[in-house]
Amino acid sequence: VTVLGVPLALRARLGRALDRLGLLDRLFWLRARLGLGDLAVMTYHRVGRPGDVGELDPGLVEVEPAELEAQLAVIRTHCTIVSLSDVRRIDRGKRLPPNPVLITFDDGYRDNHDVALPILRRAGVPATFFIPTAFPDAGKLFWWDRVWLFMRRCRLDRVDLDYPQPLVLQPASAPEEAARLVCQAIKRTPGVDHGRLWEALEQRTLVSLGRDEERALAARTIMGWSRVQALRDAGMDVQSHSHEHLVLNTLTPDAARQDLLRSSQTLREALGQDIYGVAYPVGYAVGGALRWAPANARFELGFTNCTGLCRVGDFDPLNVPRISMSLETLGAAYKMQLLFGDRAQAPVTMLPPVAPVASAGPPRA
Ligand SMILES: [Zn+2]
Repeated sequence: VTVLGVPLALRARLGRALDRLGLLDRLFWLRARLGLGDLAVMTYHRVGRPGDVGELDPGLVEVEPAELEAQLAVIRTHCTIVSLSDVRRIDRGKRLPPNPVLITFDDGYRDNHDVALPILRRAGVPATFFIPTAFPDAGKLFWWDRVWLFMRRCRLDRVDLDYPQPLVLQPASAPEEAARLVCQAIKRTPGVDHGRLWEALEQRTLVSLGRDEERALAARTIMGWSRVQALRDAGMDVQSHSHEHLVLNTLTPDAARQDLLRSSQTLREALGQDIYGVAYPVGYAVGGALRWAPANARFELGFTNCTGLCRVGDFDPLNVPRISMSLETLGAAYKMQLLFGDRAQAPVTMLPPVAPVASAGPPRA
């Protein structure tokens, strides 16, 4: 893995060496003195321990509680926390304070409320939470968590999937790889029909997930509206992460616009507040005709992910870059992310659509 051409392991070693010499702290100081206003927007998903996610996707756990506390301490020492409304005003000439940082959480996992909120409050750090509005209290799992659960439960050595893409999976021996392949196909296939996808997965993996079980799992892992409101009441900002959490680049611009409109309406009704910010699901940049979708749904700010620091002098409000976190982003590595960002995201490439196949087996109710 490389970031800006530098292998990640080398970058980590370099970061630790510079930090031991106190040079990273000096760089924060120097940047503040020079008034270099590059904004670091940090993206978190789940807070916890990867071993605690059960059969769901462990990759969403990017920080343990104690480490989040340590990261917030670094920010309080060297940087200035800004709010989403500060970022909204960049376009109108707002100058940001020294070493500005915006903390964001995507997806609305319940640990955002139960684990992260108390830590943020103790540190006096306000954050922005982006909620995919079809999920609170809906009793359904996110598609990636569902894929992981299916792959971990499947006992078959080989599964041949023809939808959303032709894939050969080995769930029994390599469930992680199987889940990764299916999730990647979902992210890259235009117009994925999720109903057809789940039907295909159930038929081929021989795994089924009952309604009651899914409802219980979702209630344990995803915030309901009362928790989302509690975040807002605690002084946190709550904005949109689309409605269905579909990758916008796989939708037509009009379907993307409708999904975004539905999300902002749902949030307005639930919270009675101004909705103007969206974090794009999966975080690909919006270009071409797709830019029209968030703009037409009256979003003023749109956030991508894995896209590095936000250069305020070159500000695109509908493609605000963010920096992704991982469990390795500790200590010096965290400071390096704040100072230099990551920009590790590869450009989006869509897979060609798959020809429809005749469904095997009897129709389902
Ligand atoms: Zn997301």
